[in-house]
Amino acid sequence: MNIIMLGAPGAGKGTQAAVLCEKLNIPTISTGNIIREALKNGTEMGQKAKSYMDEGKLVPDEVVIGIVKERLAQDDCQNGFILDGFPRTIPQAEALDAMGVVIDKVINLEVEEELIINRMSGRRVCEKCGRPYHIETLKPRVEGICDDCQGALVQRKDDHIDTVKARLEVYHKETEPLKDYYAAQGKLTEVVGQNDVKATTDRIMKALEA
Ligand code: ADP
Ligand code: ZN
Repeated sequence: MNIIMLGAPGAGKGTQAAVLCEKLNIPTISTGNIIREALKNGTEMGQKAKSYMDEGKLVPDEVVIGIVKERLAQDDCQNGFILDGFPRTIPQAEALDAMGVVIDKVINLEVEEELIINRMSGRRVCEKCGRPYHIETLKPRVEGICDDCQGALVQRKDDHIDTVKARLEVYHKETEPLKDYYAAQGKLTEVVGQNDVKATTDRIMKALEA
């Protein structure tokens, strides 16, 4: 199954994608994680993306479209995939259609804006594998250390409050119109994000089975 996770930054897309990817045994493609990885490795693409990312702006369409095209061509994507954080603009969605990629379901995770701001300030991510955690609601087994790969948990620079507000603005302007785009294709399901991670996963699984 080819799935897109839509939703505001901090709605829990990455967290749910990590759970779903294990349950469904298909890879998650997170453009945010791929860009952060490129940055860490000092590649040219990473350098270019850094200033956009740090300010909470979107990386230019042609850059992310190139990343996704390359990633979807790999073997492990042939039985399905979960897209987390892509597409984020109408041109990105159109590019996906133009590649001939058939999307089965689009899950839109809806979460109130106040909750989002709180969530993002408590968010931590694994420095090594990118898995997300939260200091109150999604703690690792050992404080400060990733359950999966023992990497250190850190706060992302763009999770600071001013950048979060900028990201939410970008979301409303550029990304929210994708709801209508996929609703028109009959692929959109709305899921209201619950405080409990597992409760949200249950709702998503129901939506995928429907
Ligand atoms: P979140 O979903 O919490 O905002 P991500 O890790 O998905 O976090 O994205 C972080 C940043 O990476 C974005 O603010 C943006 O700068 C860049 N980015 C990720 N995916 C895309 C995309 N599809 N288009 C443009 N920029 C992107
Ligand atoms: Zn990790």
